[in-house]
Amino acid sequence: MITVLSGGTGTPKLLRGLRQRLSDRDLAVVVNTGEDCWVTGGHLSPDVDTVLYLCAGLLNEQTWWGIAEDTFACHEALRSLGEEEVVRIGDRDRAVQLLRGELLRRGMTLTGATDLIAARLGVGVRVLPMADEPYATHVLTDEGRLHFQEWWVRYRGGISPRGIVWEPVAPPPATSEVLAALREADAVVIGPSNPVTSIGPILACGGVREALRDAFVVAVSPFIGDAPVSGPAGALMAACGFEPTSRGVLSLYAEFCDVFVQDVRDPVAVPGAVRADTLMTDAARSEVLAEVVLDLARR
Ligand code: GDP
Repeated sequence: MITVLSGGTGTPKLLRGLRQRLSDRDLAVVVNTGEDCWVTGGHLSPDVDTVLYLCAGLLNEQTWWGIAEDTFACHEALRSLGEEEVVRIGDRDRAVQLLRGELLRRGMTLTGATDLIAARLGVGVRVLPMADEPYATHVLTDEGRLHFQEWWVRYRGGISPRGIVWEPVAPPPATSEVLAALREADAVVIGPSNPVTSIGPILACGGVREALRDAFVVAVSPFIGDAPVSGPAGALMAACGFEPTSRGVLSLYAEFCDVFVQDVRDPVAVPGAVRADTLMTDAARSEVLAEVVLDLARR
């Protein structure tokens, strides 16, 4: 079994390829929940939903969030009622968030709610939120402290980040399901996700670093040179005092990383790194990189 640590864009692209090479029951995905928030009565878990929708064959692979060909009638109706939702939520996507919110209000854990929704969507991969308690990522800016969704979606990352903090300060324990998936894995794959806002919160959860030290870990860099392939990882790494390059990424994983994969085009030399084409611009390229990663994981 392979256990993957994932955010909501880079690693799901790799997961798309891994699913071509492995059966779903041989895959578990531990997903960041640092970007979760409540929106209009529903519980948005953006990274969990991207992974669920990918595995259910529903994902909008143009944006890497939401459901393909979704409609936005409810979002527009809310707007006409004067409710400006920060996140543009599609109607079918909203149904999942409302169901999750309802299950949580009834007392179910996030792990339990995810499991139920996954089963109803026909998802065979084990999709595991990193924790059952909140651990929300906030960006520090000169204009105050903003929830990650607020900073990234409302302000489009346009306000310079000065640092990142989490609420609450003390991270929650990883769930027992997560720790078991790390322990039982033949290898753990850290996909090319944002190291500070997607992988960072997972690593912070109690028990994860210890479990990774005992596992065989293959990590893939989301950087080429001094820029990520997409998104705000460069600015956020710099704001946290880390070099925004593959070298900086490896420095965050060094204590447990056995094999580090960086792009063939990357001008930043990382000693010992394996070079591969990590640009997953379509499903075929995802599969090629997945095969490289699985080969490394089998060694
Ligand atoms: P988020 O939850 O939407 O922030 O998504 P992730 O953290 O999972 O992914 C964002 C990261 O994915 C960014 O840092 C990108 O550089 C990286 N990324 C996106 N597509 C690719 C790709 O095709 N190859 C590589 N190597 N990285 C990618």
